[in-house]
Amino acid sequence: MRATEAAAEARRVMEICNACRYCEGFCAVFPAMTLKRDFSDADVSYLANLCHGCRGCYYACQYAPPHEWGVNVPATFALLRTDTYAEYAWPPRAAALFQRNGVVVSLALAAAVALVLILAGLANPGGAFTAARPVAPGAFYDVIPLWAMQVVGIASFGFALAAMAMGARNFWRDAGARGAGPVAIGLALWDVLTLRNLGGGGNGCNDNSERFSMRRRWLHHAMFYGFMLCFAATCTGFVYHAFLGWHAPYPLLSAPVVLGTVGGALLLAGTGGMIAMRQVADPAVNPRALLGADLAVLVLLSLSALTGLVLLALRGTGAMGPALAVHLGVILALFVTLPYSRMIHGVYRGLALLRRAAERNMTPTSG
Ligand code: SF4
Ligand code: SF4
Repeated sequence: MRATEAAAEARRVMEICNACRYCEGFCAVFPAMTLKRDFSDADVSYLANLCHGCRGCYYACQYAPPHEWGVNVPATFALLRTDTYAEYAWPPRAAALFQRNGVVVSLALAAAVALVLILAGLANPGGAFTAARPVAPGAFYDVIPLWAMQVVGIASFGFALAAMAMGARNFWRDAGARGAGPVAIGLALWDVLTLRNLGGGGNGCNDNSERFSMRRRWLHHAMFYGFMLCFAATCTGFVYHAFLGWHAPYPLLSAPVVLGTVGGALLLAGTGGMIAMRQVADPAVNPRALLGADLAVLVLLSLSALTGLVLLALRGTGAMGPALAVHLGVILALFVTLPYSRMIHGVYRGLALLRRAAERNMTPTSG
């Protein structure tokens, strides 16, 4: 991890917290912090990704602004996390582009992919792209050729997987732990799947003030499981197509459609709630500089759900072709930007939880 301004500030703040330790029971960050006396840039990178931004320690802190020490752990870690997304990303230049213009890059990418698919669809003979047709197996491939969908799909999904794997490797090499065995992996997985830490001590997060709320946890649950259900719908569709020879669009009560509809509705509810919360967030703990990148991923996620539901509603009409092109454009843009957006925090946070689980039996230093 490079010695950035945010990393230096995180080290300063962690040294104060390590002497104070008032927040020791708040989250996984503070017990992990107590294992160290000195903090390297890699250590603060790990702690920043272990933080889930509940803001509890900010509203509880007697040294928070206007105190002259200006301790602000959530804002410091939020800025440092953004540095880590750029630091570990592959290729690094792509991350810098996304950090500067997240919303514009995402929408431009979605529009570009949709345009390629629209052109491929328009090249079909006899106006097939805009012709109304019954919802029958293979109808999607009548409006946009299968090869066009496969080429852009495999290229963008394969790129996203490779870039995320490289990012995870870079993070673990720099800020991971040695000797994370099966028990540690099991504990970390449990934390990820239950989003346990977002529950705080049972009262949830401090969204905007000293008041606790479970709203953020439930919205994250909706987004996480909505996304996973949509992904399961895509995988099921792939199995149907590749191994069973059943071609899309599928009936309303088929597994891909049911999984995608429930997942899309959850994703839409979760992202809509998070966008609304981000608009009124306390700027003291939610740096304005991160607003664009925060909104970019939420907008892309909500558009992917919305365009999927619109496509479902327009099947069988002359608008099915354009709706399919736009939906695929948004989905593939989401995949390509995944390794550089806030979504990559899910990967780094999972690895940070793994290091925490691997170090669970280490003895804290004296404060
Ligand atoms: S955030 Fe403030 S109160 Fe909490 S441990 Fe750090 S210095 Fe102490
Ligand atoms: S903001 Fe929440 S999760 Fe992050 S360090 Fe503070 S208490 Fe822990």
